[in-house]
Amino acid sequence: MYFEVGDKIKMKKAHPCKSFEWTVLRVGIDFRLQCSGCGRQVMIPRTLVEKNCRGVMHSGETQFHRPEQKKPDNRE
Ligand SMILES: [Zn+2]
Repeated sequence: MYFEVGDKIKMKKAHPCKSFEWTVLRVGIDFRLQCSGCGRQVMIPRTLVEKNCRGVMHSGETQFHRPEQKKPDNRE
């Protein structure tokens, strides 16, 4: 799946603060995500992010959509 720093992602399971949304702060083998509800930061293996991701919203977008499998042509 294609993610980049600054993306918002929606997860299958809610954080204890009840938020489903996270901001991507770092990508790699492990992702650093910040909870949109409480601001807490966590490190999560990319495999888990991919497994639990319900939707993504890239910077400049206004709605969540299904994650692309690879980098879309219209993005740098
Ligand atoms: Zn939270």
